[in-house]
Amino acid sequence: MEAKKESFRDSISTITEEGLRNWIYPKKPKGRWHTRRVIVAVIMLALFFAFPLIKINGEQFMLFDILNRKFVIFGRPFFPQDFYLLAFLLVTGAIFVVLFTVIYGRIWCGWLCPQTIMMEMVYRKVEYWIEGDRPQQMKLDRMPWNKEKIRKKFTKWFLFFLITLVVTSTMWAYVAGTDYVINFWKNPFAKPGVLIAYFIFATIYYFIYAWFREQVCIIVCPYGRLQGVLTDENTILVTYDYKRGEKRGPMRKGQDRAALGLGDCIDCKQCVHVCPTGIDIRNGTQMECINCTACMDACDAVMDAIGKPRGLIRYASKRSIEEGTQEIFTPRVKFYTAVLAIILTVFITLLVKRPTVDLKVLRVRGQVFTELPDGKIRNYYNATLINKTTHEFKDLSIQVIDKDGAVITVAGVDDQKPDLKVREIKQVMMFVDFPKGKIEGKEEITFGVFDQKGKLLDKYKSKFIAPVE
Ligand code: SF4
Ligand code: SF4
Repeated sequence: MEAKKESFRDSISTITEEGLRNWIYPKKPKGRWHTRRVIVAVIMLALFFAFPLIKINGEQFMLFDILNRKFVIFGRPFFPQDFYLLAFLLVTGAIFVVLFTVIYGRIWCGWLCPQTIMMEMVYRKVEYWIEGDRPQQMKLDRMPWNKEKIRKKFTKWFLFFLITLVVTSTMWAYVAGTDYVINFWKNPFAKPGVLIAYFIFATIYYFIYAWFREQVCIIVCPYGRLQGVLTDENTILVTYDYKRGEKRGPMRKGQDRAALGLGDCIDCKQCVHVCPTGIDIRNGTQMECINCTACMDACDAVMDAIGKPRGLIRYASKRSIEEGTQEIFTPRVKFYTAVLAIILTVFITLLVKRPTVDLKVLRVRGQVFTELPDGKIRNYYNATLINKTTHEFKDLSIQVIDKDGAVITVAGVDDQKPDLKVREIKQVMMFVDFPKGKIEGKEEITFGVFDQKGKLLDKYKSKFIAPVE
């Protein structure tokens, strides 16, 4: 008997004891938390579909064209030279994820994860629309293949297929560019290889939402797997207040629950029926819980109906439940939130302060220096200029900014002032002359690139070599 009680720890909710798939039929969620999640999901979906369609100065607002090494983030082109930012993003991102999860648990999973938004707010909504709520869906699946079942199932699968085409085309627009995708669909059979690759990808995507579903969160997602080690008794999670709820028991007319030692949980199982991962949150925090808040809404509705305060299932830490407090924004949570804010601020500052024109100046290999007939000392450099903006630069000038007396000759550029088109990477050869004696031996010099108005756009440190007198 005892072993049976503990059996929820031995297997996952989506697999039966025989090892078969336990299909989940979650009850249609509704309530204040669901409404909030719908608002967030609508905003996220609007951004997802809009970003590839927005162009700023001819640049797609978001583009991650790995094959052509073309990246645009918030309308600003990024180059492989900016990958230090990516490295920084990866490191800070890892710290951010750990800290965020330690404090707020799986907020990401329930509110922002594309998998949850697509599954619960798009595909599942279509399913409710066509097949009805939990009891109707169960009935439909039990019935033999008749006209009604064929009509409903095929309508649902067809709509799933259409959604899949739109979503995968949008995802494709992020990596190949919207113009490419639009042109491709004008004549899809012109590139059969691309069409096949597209349909393989779309089929996998369709399979995830039509069949695999919540198992992505339970079995596949590495972030989901990390939860067990990242959360502790202070983490804010969707939690059942067992102190208030237990001992659970059905509600009867005229019953004195306090006298019977019963808590507020009337064991109606509404929180279980609504759960998209098929778990019973009353068993405690479980790895399957994506913190979708559906059980909070379901239980709040029950509490309203029986005249008890809401929040038997709520956002709370295990400790706050144990200690019977409502406080979730503890000093620790506030401190970690401040650390998160600092990390984000540093990254945004780095992003914004990124130079608009990138300058790199390297000495030409194999050349030391040349003594010119007029007594000057000449060094040879290769300079690389990159325009990281969406506008053209005219008449850029390169100067040595930390030492007087340098004369720079830019080879092959009229009036010595290179222009730089949008996204252009220009390489020029430069001769730098210093009067004899100005520099002795090997010294560091700093080059600066200036726009037409004399604004310093970027600088780069290099070496100048001169004879020692
Ligand atoms: S919905 Fe609330 S009252 Fe009903 S079983 Fe779940 S926790 Fe208990
Ligand atoms: S237990 Fe509640 S919050 Fe967790 S997945 Fe199920 S319904 Fe969502």
